[in-house]
Amino acid sequence: MKKPFVTLDKLKEIEKKIPTPFYLYDEKGIRENARKIKQAFSWNPGYREYFAVKATPNPYLLQLLKQEGCGADCSSLTELMLSDAVGLKNREIMFSSNDTPDDDFRLAAKLGATINLDDFTHIDVLNRLAGIPETISCRYNPGGVFKASNAIMDNPGESKYGFTREQMTEGFKKLQKLGAKNFGIHAFLASNTTGNEYYPALAKVLFQLAVDLHRETGAHISFINLSGGVGVAYRPDQTPPDILKIGRQVKKVYEEVLVPAGMGDVAIYTEMGRFLLGPYGILVAKAIRVKHIYKEYIGLDACAANLMRPAMYGAYHHITVMGKESAPCDHKYDITGGLCENNDKFAIDRMLPKIDIGDLLVLHDAGAHGHSMGYNYNGKLRSAEVLLHEDGSFDQIRRAETPADYFATLDFPGLPKRS
Ligand SMILES: *Cc1c(COP(=O)(O)O)cnc(C)c1O
Repeated sequence: MKKPFVTLDKLKEIEKKIPTPFYLYDEKGIRENARKIKQAFSWNPGYREYFAVKATPNPYLLQLLKQEGCGADCSSLTELMLSDAVGLKNREIMFSSNDTPDDDFRLAAKLGATINLDDFTHIDVLNRLAGIPETISCRYNPGGVFKASNAIMDNPGESKYGFTREQMTEGFKKLQKLGAKNFGIHAFLASNTTGNEYYPALAKVLFQLAVDLHRETGAHISFINLSGGVGVAYRPDQTPPDILKIGRQVKKVYEEVLVPAGMGDVAIYTEMGRFLLGPYGILVAKAIRVKHIYKEYIGLDACAANLMRPAMYGAYHHITVMGKESAPCDHKYDITGGLCENNDKFAIDRMLPKIDIGDLLVLHDAGAHGHSMGYNYNGKLRSAEVLLHEDGSFDQIRRAETPADYFATLDFPGLPKRS
């Protein structure tokens, strides 16, 4: 069973100050998980986790992760600005972007971020805009189909990211000529993997590539970035990835491939978003309408504009009806938001306890790619974000949007203006 990290009483206390819907993050869980990830790779002296900012772009959370030794993985101008604002510097920022605008490259270079190039042609672009730095990284796309196990499979040949194998060699040679001295290799080949095989299988591909590229070009490979892709057990019957085991398996591959090649000084980086924060954030919403037609519907005060994953991917998010944890799940509901889109359903045919208007519902595992995917379709406003501290106190770390925010880009008589 999935148990929320917060009690109904605490939610009622928060709700008095911050009306639903709101996101709630668990500081204790986040810190513990960040420490566990660090421990899993502690065998590697250069190891660093670069939190994927796009998963949860809130500076208060970035700050908290910075205290735990994490850097930031950015993919856009504004994510770079957030990382800069929390005081992350130089090598603490990874810039893994694609289809990258000039301004984004310029700011990444100015901040001294490590730039992870998505394409061969970006070498010339970066050279023209800011020059090639001494430390540079290239994103690899092996093409074809990537298979780590029966459960973990993806299709890099259809993905827009990265350099081909030949381009990696040519790219390294070109970058060397332009002054690069230290190289990184990055790849992201499968998303939301819940088996433990993904990182070790990816490591095998990237470590062997590093050995080959070093042989072919003489380039000094200083780090290998396993990127994101470690998943979350969204369903209660799934087993979450075992990060300590994953760390041990990556170490084994490291010792099999890199160490014998005399490359035992390569640092391992990760860019986890989902695994690091996913389970430690929830969306708290209230049942505001009950509807009986051909099916039974419960309407929430949240909608897909607050949490898009179910509408976009048909993703499962577990739901707890607070205060009814031990009641029998003998009612079949569609749990909906109010968008004029029939895919605005947080759950379809979900067996739950009888829900009454006013009940608080917790949507689990929304801490990553949750609030950040929010949007304003139907004029819906994005919710607040709240951080629950270890001692039970809490802080609003982002207020809810107001109509004035929604109209902020319009200059039209009769509409409210942000002061
Ligand atoms: C999205 C992304 C991540 C994080 O992915 P998760 O699925 O949250 O682990 C890491 N690196 C890059 C380049 C990404 O685009």
